[in-house]
Amino acid sequence: MRRKLAAGNWKMNGLSTDLAELDRLITRHAAPAVDLLLCPPATLLAAASARLGNHPLLIGGQDCHAAASGAHTGDISASMLADAGARAVILGHSERRQDHEETDQMVRAKARAAHAAGLTTVICLGESLDEREAANTLDIIGGQLSASVPDNSTGENLVIAYEPIWAIGSGLTPTLDQIGEVHDFIRTRLERRFGAGVGRSARLLYGGSVKPENAAEIFTISNVDGALVGGASLTADDFSAIITALEASTT
Ligand code: PEP
Repeated sequence: MRRKLAAGNWKMNGLSTDLAELDRLITRHAAPAVDLLLCPPATLLAAASARLGNHPLLIGGQDCHAAASGAHTGDISASMLADAGARAVILGHSERRQDHEETDQMVRAKARAAHAAGLTTVICLGESLDEREAANTLDIIGGQLSASVPDNSTGENLVIAYEPIWAIGSGLTPTLDQIGEVHDFIRTRLERRFGAGVGRSARLLYGGSVKPENAAEIFTISNVDGALVGGASLTADDFSAIITALEASTT
């Protein structure tokens, strides 16, 4: 049985005063029935981790470098994330693929480094609107999945986030059937590549304009094990409503 996961991605948002939202969140969800992950900007990782006390919420990074250390000005290694208290890292987000021209091969190398540092990786895949309209979604997702996910992945350290690029921050979402089709496809591919053990225990998140208003229906879809949430994770009120919807889907 996979434990559900609600993950928040603050992107390039958040100053130290905004950690009050984290305080509110963990106060409201003192004993969550699902796993929680919050990925603030790197500048807040250590401070966010320090505020958790014994709370089970995990803190994560939003990217890491593939190398363990070295002359890479401005970059952050996986072990630096771990040292700052991170337990997970988002990799291959479409904004990084676009803004930083990250390829599947780069994402896979980063994921290897993250796994070596003991981090769980949330590897993002998603098609553009043109690709969906050309009926190429499954080809694109299949290609990204096989090239971005490293062979050493386990059921514990691998989380896949299906995030259609056109749904991110747009208020648009695929239909429930469209989400289900992609998640079933990813599950089948993982089982074929890694076997039933890893393939069935890796968690699959949906991401792209998940809000308190649509979360409950998205969580009814089979093979949706939770959500990666951008804008709605910035406030404790909205993220909490999504967490509550995910908890309700487990009963
Ligand atoms: C994201 O960027 O991962 C995301 C899903 O953003 P939003 O929820 O704002 O669409």
